[in-house]
Amino acid sequence: MTQVTDHGGGVRSLRVPIPDNPLGFTLVHLLDTDRGPALIDTGWDDPESWDALTEGLAACGTSVGEVTGVLITHHHPDHHGLSAKVREASGAWIAMHEADVSVVRRTRENPPERWYAFMAAKLAAAGAPEEHMAPLIAARDSGRARSLPGLAPALPDRTITPGDLLDLPGRRLRAIWTPGHTPGHVCLHLEEDHPAGLAGNGRLFSGDHLLPGITPHIGLYEDPDDATVTDPLGDYLDSLERVGRLAPAEVLPAHQHTFTDAPARVRELLDHHEERLTGLLTLLAPAPLTPWQLAERMEWNRPWEQIPYGSRTIAVSEAEAHLRRLVKLGRAEAVAGSDPVTYAPV
Ligand SMILES: [Zn+2]
Ligand SMILES: [Zn+2]
Repeated sequence: MTQVTDHGGGVRSLRVPIPDNPLGFTLVHLLDTDRGPALIDTGWDDPESWDALTEGLAACGTSVGEVTGVLITHHHPDHHGLSAKVREASGAWIAMHEADVSVVRRTRENPPERWYAFMAAKLAAAGAPEEHMAPLIAARDSGRARSLPGLAPALPDRTITPGDLLDLPGRRLRAIWTPGHTPGHVCLHLEEDHPAGLAGNGRLFSGDHLLPGITPHIGLYEDPDDATVTDPLGDYLDSLERVGRLAPAEVLPAHQHTFTDAPARVRELLDHHEERLTGLLTLLAPAPLTPWQLAERMEWNRPWEQIPYGSRTIAVSEAEAHLRRLVKLGRAEAVAGSDPVTYAPV
């Protein structure tokens, strides 16, 4: 049986499992409106997850066929994976921020080979050793990639405009753009009194932006068609301050559990990243390092030798995002003429 939690005031959450993932589940939120139920996120595209979603909706006295709209916090497959199936079953609209719609469009339009070639080039530039890039190059050349799941995510039919109230009759739900984890991540602010009278400013559906016990992955935005030098960690830190200032009575994230005192959690995360940035400068002090070398020396949840292949790629992307931030802040710089590029403190 799907675990359903009634949060009061026409808001419920359904635990939709993510197969083989330490996160465990996505909390899909169900919002009653005068036109019928709307979903915030849908869950991973897997038969077990689909069953959990449909059973959860049944336990709430509705069905997937009655869903009128789907709001997606960001394009990741644990949030957007089942959107196509929900739309197919119900005719519901799907809404997402334009920046993440672009990611979806790119994923659908680019052949996987192009993606693998882009990733391999990026890793080479970050100083990754050849054995790390070999599987990507093999995948690029084999055509096997075509059978990978998640390569045809649903193209949303509506865009979420930051600052606007969403088209949900009888509700006041406002979109807050919170880029960082992805370029188009949004939090959704329910501007209604808390049903249990908790003090604060409504409730915040925070997606992956603000979670009670984990920090979301912040890497570089990956776009083979765009050479803009973005600063995702800078975006993320700004977005954190933005949701902290909202001071919601309660936060309903897409993983883990609900919590209160968002400003305190925001402060913790800002401190964590400041400590991390300062720590990285210490690692760069003895000699300039490539992003790969920096990732090897950074602190992770286990020793580098035990980090599996895919997670190393993610770790390097995270190291790059931190380097990007340090460069933007003028606290580090690329060493002129280094190839692959190395970084030193300023
Ligand atoms: Zn995510
Ligand atoms: Zn997630």
